[in-house]
Amino acid sequence: MRDINKKKDNDLMEKIVSLCKRRGFVFPGSEIYGGLGGTYDWGHFGVALKNNIKQNWWKKFVDSRKDMYGIDAAILMRQEVWQASGHVAGFADPVVECEKCKRRFRADQIEDKKKCVECDGKLGDLKQFNMMFATKVGASEDSSATSYLRPETAQGMFVNFKNTVDAFHPRLPFGMAQIGKAFRNEITPRDFIFRVREFEQMEIEYFIRSEDWEKYFEYWKGEMLNWMEEVGIDMAKVHELEVAPSDRAHYSKRTIDFEFDYPFGKKELFGLAYRTDSDLKNHKLEYVDEEEKEKIVPHVIEPTFGVDRAVLALLLSVYVEDEKDGEIRSYLKFKPSIAPVICAVSPLLKNKPELVEYANTKVYAPLKAEFGRVAWDDNGNIGKRYRKQDEIGTPFCIVVDFDTLKDDTVTVRDRDTGKQERVKVSELQNYIKEKI
Ligand code: ATP
Repeated sequence: MRDINKKKDNDLMEKIVSLCKRRGFVFPGSEIYGGLGGTYDWGHFGVALKNNIKQNWWKKFVDSRKDMYGIDAAILMRQEVWQASGHVAGFADPVVECEKCKRRFRADQIEDKKKCVECDGKLGDLKQFNMMFATKVGASEDSSATSYLRPETAQGMFVNFKNTVDAFHPRLPFGMAQIGKAFRNEITPRDFIFRVREFEQMEIEYFIRSEDWEKYFEYWKGEMLNWMEEVGIDMAKVHELEVAPSDRAHYSKRTIDFEFDYPFGKKELFGLAYRTDSDLKNHKLEYVDEEEKEKIVPHVIEPTFGVDRAVLALLLSVYVEDEKDGEIRSYLKFKPSIAPVICAVSPLLKNKPELVEYANTKVYAPLKAEFGRVAWDDNGNIGKRYRKQDEIGTPFCIVVDFDTLKDDTVTVRDRDTGKQERVKVSELQNYIKEKI
């Protein structure tokens, strides 16, 4: 029974990876040169999906709040930032190397710490491997020119704490938010976009008075769960894990991992940490409460979201297969607000200029101007177009046919039910707006 389930799970991952490539969501990085482990390139629909996720996040946590300040800090920062934060000394994973085949493994991810799973060779001593990518800034080879590709976006917020306070004079509690790339030289990148070496994070640092930390920890736990539900992640597959003190990062006094039931196991999706005042203290920063006339070092609650893991969890949540007339159909049941394409417009036949002209000028152009995420699709027969748009997760397919020329109505097909209805062209925008 277990093996059958495992096979089913492997099949599901294979289907998702293959759909992502075939339909232009995610491609293996540097593929034509044999690939570069732990990197992926995002195609047209993948970019659209990621943008929707990021915009939705920004709207909820920044635009619709009074107490949040956005930032877009440089990826490269002075090495002192990472020395102060503890990453130079401690951002490391335990690694063991096989003495025979030279393969390296993350020691905490393998059961047998003595024997290589690939070649049965003897595994060497455990070493610590720092996961930051080091680089040199400028033409100098000197160690003073060393910098790192940031392994988390968080430090970009801490080092701009003073700038933000000086520019906006916020009162506690308030937060800073950032979306951006992070880089980790993972020892064993794996499981598609789950563990990669270059990824994106959406992070918040919420500054509070120390005595309020439990209240705001609970508050942000609720906000994180709400957001997951809003974007369409299957909440039945999300679990909370209270991280044991010995497994917490050096700066954290409490951490919850939100785990997701991926086909390859229950693993971290997002995290929530109480980072205390450790980072601001490390950077020797403080806050002056002008009204209370006191100086304090605020404490921090950090909700952190990985964009790539959000995409993977979402794909796994919305992938559906059903059977109709003996044919298996697969589709992505995205919410219209998140779907890379809201609707696709098709002339019934592409060699009928009157249909093409009508579809283009009276249907596609106004919808495109209104919604942006509108596709033009005139390839293959209608059945094929529906199958393609189902796999992209397009909620509505609009077809212009010969009746349209007589009565200015079009067919709108619903992705989930396959049902079709006639809608007046003049009503289309409202029809779609109502659905989203
Ligand atoms: P893991 O234990 O899986 O290595 P982590 O605890 O080191 O993850 P954090 O430092 O908490 O991860 O990073 C915050 C978020 O960034 C994670 O919840 C995850 O969504 C994302 N993330 C971290 N590492 C990676 C990675 N290598 N690839 C993709 N996303 C990642």
